[in-house]
Amino acid sequence: MAEDRHFSVPYDDTRDVQIRYQVIQHNLKVFIPASLPEASRMWIPNRLQEAEPTVSGPNVVYTNEISNTLNFTDGTSWTPDHQDKVGYAKQAVQSYLDTHHVNTPELQSTLSSASISGDPMQFAAQYTQGQRPGNMGQMAATEGITTPGDRGARQVLMNGFDQPAPAYVHESWHTLESNVFQGALRSPLSKDAIEGMTEYLTQQTTGLDFRRALDSEHKPSTLYSRETSALELAMKNGELSQNDVHRSYLRGSESPTGRVEAAHRHYFPDTTRKDVGAGVPLTQAPGYDSNPFSFSASQGHDTSSPGQYVPPQSQYTPYPQRPSTPRAKSPGRSAGG
Ligand SMILES: [Zn+2]
Repeated sequence: MAEDRHFSVPYDDTRDVQIRYQVIQHNLKVFIPASLPEASRMWIPNRLQEAEPTVSGPNVVYTNEISNTLNFTDGTSWTPDHQDKVGYAKQAVQSYLDTHHVNTPELQSTLSSASISGDPMQFAAQYTQGQRPGNMGQMAATEGITTPGDRGARQVLMNGFDQPAPAYVHESWHTLESNVFQGALRSPLSKDAIEGMTEYLTQQTTGLDFRRALDSEHKPSTLYSRETSALELAMKNGELSQNDVHRSYLRGSESPTGRVEAAHRHYFPDTTRKDVGAGVPLTQAPGYDSNPFSFSASQGHDTSSPGQYVPPQSQYTPYPQRPSTPRAKSPGRSAGG
């Protein structure tokens, strides 16, 4: 087991918050506190470099602490409650939308008015409704449910009040996903592809390379790593851009959605689903690195991205820009291309 070390970043006018990390050979694994504000998170790469100046050329991966508690260097701590986490998640998603210039009045009002419950009974009732009898085993591992319906009519039911803040971010994104993926008409995307985009946006929003669930302290597990890997590989190989993900997820635009689906067919084939065609198994895809640097044998299934040591400004675009290969020019925003 790797030894825990700490550094700190500014939190507010009077307090610094502690960040835990581990050094494994020349690699760094940083545990971002589950509800750390973006303004504090921006300090992490520089403070990390100050703390480990002798670790040359490290690979850094960022994951989340499971506990929601923030520990300050003055010995005090703060644990956000359900409403605090709701506020954090909505703020984080809104900030992402603004930063990427994709916010709209409709998204803004959907997000701010979204109902997010933490009542375990409400969650259990909804979960039971959606399951066949005898298929209840995954209930404990489910972080939350966003009920189906048009944007603005969905409700988020978290699986209890203890879910880490990034799980709230994931469900908050679901409240914004395009109506095209919902409702009576068949979605143009598989559930896996939608989850892949939801989780990609969640990790971008929270600055994580991979996300851990509430039960990760006991049973190491990463969330949607295969689903997000399909998107990340397609981005790495220039087949998909972050802008495509925004246009597909938020507007249901046809061509970007087609590229997302193609990425999943190609990199994340699932032979048990007949609507997904044959593709290259993820492990054989170009650019796939099964285990760029193993932190422990039990976590060898971390995301394929080794994580780069990036300055704060580029923290939210860790993927190479889409190469400017000639592609038919989109007819414009209104055409839904
Ligand atoms: Zn989801």
